[in-house]
Amino acid sequence: MNAVWARCFLVVKRMCERYIGGMAQTEAVAVDYDFILAGGGGAGLSLAWHLVEGGFENSRILIVDEEEKRLNDRTWCYWVRGDTPFDGIARRSWDTLQITGDGKDLVLPLAPYRYQMLRSEDFYRFVKERLATCPHVEILTASVDQVRDTDDGAEIVAGGRAYRGRWVFDSLWKYQDFVVDESKYRNLKQHFKGVEIRLARDFFNVDVARMFDFRTPQHDVMRFFYVLPWSPREALVEYTLFSPDTLPPDEYDRRIHDYIHRVLGITDYEITAEESCIIPMTDQPFERRGGRHILRTGTRGGRVKASTGYAFMRMQWDSEAIVASLKRTGHPFDLPRTPPRYFRFDSILLQVLLDRGDLAEHVFVRFFDRNPVTRMFRFLDEEGGIRENLKLMSTVPIPTFLKAGWRVIRS
Ligand SMILES: Cc1cc2nc3c(=O)[nH]c(=O)nc-3n(C[C@H](O)[C@H](O)[C@H](O)COP(=O)(O)OP(=O)(O)OC[C@H]3O[C@@H](n4cnc5c(N)ncnc54)[C@H](O)[C@@H]3O)c2cc1C
Repeated sequence: MNAVWARCFLVVKRMCERYIGGMAQTEAVAVDYDFILAGGGGAGLSLAWHLVEGGFENSRILIVDEEEKRLNDRTWCYWVRGDTPFDGIARRSWDTLQITGDGKDLVLPLAPYRYQMLRSEDFYRFVKERLATCPHVEILTASVDQVRDTDDGAEIVAGGRAYRGRWVFDSLWKYQDFVVDESKYRNLKQHFKGVEIRLARDFFNVDVARMFDFRTPQHDVMRFFYVLPWSPREALVEYTLFSPDTLPPDEYDRRIHDYIHRVLGITDYEITAEESCIIPMTDQPFERRGGRHILRTGTRGGRVKASTGYAFMRMQWDSEAIVASLKRTGHPFDLPRTPPRYFRFDSILLQVLLDRGDLAEHVFVRFFDRNPVTRMFRFLDEEGGIRENLKLMSTVPIPTFLKAGWRVIRS
């Protein structure tokens, strides 16, 4: 008889649980969207892609950006191992890197990595075409004025209207609104201008990407060129600096012109496109949680690597991890943590660049000269173990790095 009562109790208990679960679901339905992506640039669209590819194809997703994101407003380059969803739309991949400076000319086979170039215009179109196949994905062009938590989710205010979501992913980002407390943190800018050039005759070796070419006056701060050819007659030539201050606009043009003429020996070329920007390089922490239901992503969520300015692949890994967390736990916050020593390495490298910009050419060429490319990339991707890290650190100019390390510890 006891067993019968126990069974009845279990049945009633299950019915109650189902009823309460149903109420909880009804509550969840009270929000307008499952996911709101505030910001539909690199991070927003990467996450949207991974959500719909990762099992949330039928979720109600809203993406809000004040720009339509159709133009080629940036060119992404990144090293990568294995396949990515964007290989088919990449403009070019290179298996060899060339690094020139400090009296050396290094030609480095990259396998198992490759260096890849992706135009943002192609990325935006590719992702939006995929999103257009999903029944409940909406894209809104509007300025977001507020992002805030609510009891059962979070909401954004855009174009004078509130949109409620179960989770909000905030990647709203503008460099001009960004402030670093320089009394506590190191703050550099990665600023550059790139020009796409077209020549009337074959010139470039399309198998090799020039990643660091230091053959330009350094003036005590790190300055170098990228030359990334995608055809024998066409390449992106980019003048990049890691320094606290930007240059007057015509100074970038002057240096680019000088490099193309004097160093590459090209006299006749046409500029077909231009891009320029500032990427933050700072060890000031970026808070990932924007609230109980708000996760910050992309630059706003600290996905730009402080010591390199690279972010594209980090945004892909982050998006994958967010989707995995949602599936595993029902929330997006169970994300892998970067081993703390990597933040220290970033700080030390930033300190070296701030104190001894005159040594940057020597430091970077030496890194690539004395380490296998795999070790370098694993380090920059924050994958290497402590022993591997120590091997790499043993190749740096020790007194300079010790001094910088001491300043980091004291600060
Ligand atoms: C020109 C350029 C070249 C780069 N090259 C590389 C590279 O080669 N490799 C690499 O790894 N990284 C590169 N980066 C760094 C990084 O990968 C990119 O900046 C990337 O786009 C960062 O993604 P995000 O979503 O954080 O920022 P964004 O892509 O800039 O997206 C932020 C979005 O927020 C929107 N927004 C801001 N405020 C509001 C508001 N109030 N309301 C509505 N919308 C708003 C903006 O319109 C924008 O679309 C480059 C960056 C730039 C700018």
